[in-house]
Amino acid sequence: MKGFAMLKINEVGWIEKERPHCGPMDAIVRPLAVSPCTSDVHTVYEGAIGERTNLILGHEAVGEVVETGSLVKDFKKGDTVIIPAITPDWGAVESQMGFSQHSGCMLCGWKFSNIKDGVFAEFFHVNEADGNMALLPKNVSIEEGVMLSDMVPTGFHGADNAKVSYGETVIVIGIGPVGLMAVAGANLRGAARIFAVGSREICQDAARKYGATDIINYKQGDIVKQIQEANNKKPVDKVIIAGGGLEAFEQALKLVRPGGIISNVNYLGSGDHIKINRLDWGVGMVHISIIGGLMPGGRKNMEYLSNLLKYKKLDVGILLTHRFKGFGFIEKGLALMKDKPRDLIKPVVTI
Ligand code: NAD
Ligand code: ZN
Repeated sequence: MKGFAMLKINEVGWIEKERPHCGPMDAIVRPLAVSPCTSDVHTVYEGAIGERTNLILGHEAVGEVVETGSLVKDFKKGDTVIIPAITPDWGAVESQMGFSQHSGCMLCGWKFSNIKDGVFAEFFHVNEADGNMALLPKNVSIEEGVMLSDMVPTGFHGADNAKVSYGETVIVIGIGPVGLMAVAGANLRGAARIFAVGSREICQDAARKYGATDIINYKQGDIVKQIQEANNKKPVDKVIIAGGGLEAFEQALKLVRPGGIISNVNYLGSGDHIKINRLDWGVGMVHISIIGGLMPGGRKNMEYLSNLLKYKKLDVGILLTHRFKGFGFIEKGLALMKDKPRDLIKPVVTI
């Protein structure tokens, strides 16, 4: 079968591979819609998780089930399913402890385009199909459904880890598709004031639609000063980091209140250390939590998040600025994610 792969750090291309084998609990799926991700860009062009050779990329897909293992109960050939980017091993002790993202080892729930071939292929393998796939609701399109693989759960995970609550003031740093879903998640969780930090007009407009009350352009001066000024020098309750570099943590620490939370979902592709200023950290005693999280995968999460689309509580159509038809356009989609033209939020390729 054909696939679009990371050949090595800094190099991508089309390759031929064997069609994957279906184990008793697994499924083989044919992609119907896929979306390239900034994470693929970090992995390939920053070599952020180390060398990978001839590894098929992609981890965001809606697909059609073509084969199921003998122990799979709830899915059958022909079903249209959402496949989350993260597909944990549900029996692992880490899963039993509530951190299925790290089933087996740190980040090991993240299999596609990390430790096994991803979804940019004619067929791909889903482990533990009953636990990791969800049926796509009938009234949700395959293009919109693919946003449930990664963009919605990651942005919402940022808001969940920040424990955003009614009436709070929240900053979202970075408003690409993930940050925009963090804005939407914070809004649904009841945040009153949401500062969205981003420079591209299309992302700023989308942020307003998702509930941002204030837009801060990081290209027009120090965001700490801009936000402090707008917020009458008062600290905010929560900061969600979904873009920018390591400096975002230092900025967040200057902006958040004692007892507040800094919640990162950004994939830190380069740089070695995050700096924590001793005084901003309340000389070690300020009760500010810093948490970083890989999105949770799994069927239950997919089913619940897809309800938001099914019942029109969340419109992910705003994210889909570039739509392509044909397997070959995956390459173009990834190039767009790398180059980030001003009119891009997220590309989707239907097959
Ligand atoms: P994106 O690149 O489209 O969005 C990030 C945005 O941040 C860009 O628009 C960029 O211009 C902007 N930015 C750059 N510097 C900035 C600064 N100093 N201040 C504010 N904004 C700045 O990426 P995305 O698809 O929205 O994903 C965001 C991050 O989340 C990526 O690193 C991605 O790899 C990661 N990710 C994490 C998970 C997870 O499970 N935690 C899942 C998917 C993606
Ligand atoms: Zn992704």
